[in-house]
Amino acid sequence: MEFYDVHTHQIFLEENDDPYHSCIFDVYPLEFEVAKESYNRHAFSCGIHPWYSEDSDTQMAYLNEIAPNARIIAIGETGLDRLKGPSFEIQIPVFKKHIELSERLGKPVIIHCVKAWEELIRVKREMRPTQPWIIHGYRGKPELTEQLIREGFLFSVGDQINVDSMQVIPPDALFCETDEDEMSIRDVYQQAAHSLNMDLEVFASQITENVRRVFPTLEPPRPYDRDQEEESD
Ligand SMILES: [Zn+2]
Repeated sequence: MEFYDVHTHQIFLEENDDPYHSCIFDVYPLEFEVAKESYNRHAFSCGIHPWYSEDSDTQMAYLNEIAPNARIIAIGETGLDRLKGPSFEIQIPVFKKHIELSERLGKPVIIHCVKAWEELIRVKREMRPTQPWIIHGYRGKPELTEQLIREGFLFSVGDQINVDSMQVIPPDALFCETDEDEMSIRDVYQQAAHSLNMDLEVFASQITENVRRVFPTLEPPRPYDRDQEEESD
């Protein structure tokens, strides 16, 4: 069985890494150069978190420079947060710059959204993106979920899920993640599959299909191989 973790901040040493999963590591622009040398098996998402979007021009310029790199397969996490970070006057323009970059490069967006659903939908309607937008750490209520589905959003779930919303999300719009949580990706899959009364294997193959469609360049999991790692240095 293959496990895909589409959003994580946890960097494992390759030796300790679970060989049966493949990750999209979220890194800040300035971390990318070092991270890409250290973690050969995984891909990256790169962006400026809304909490730190103030005075981010230099970071943004650098993000534009590195984002074409093939190992960066998603833009973000980016988004809107009503509870933390600068005002929306600052957050929204920075978010929109990520969207422009995503459209220009043809790379999906990983979205962080806290109590800003109206604003998020407004930006999406205004910008009419062609790239997938994945809301990460999703645990909204069913009514909100239905609204977001109509707007064309995709969802990534982690350790905390809303079981009622899980029934509403179309199977082809779902991803799994560990973010900063303790729960392993295998357990996240298990919990999500259980909430849907699905067999873990059937659930996992659906997620694999979704990953192949949205992130066609994300490599399938492969065991750590020291010889190969050293050759590629
Ligand atoms: Zn995160």
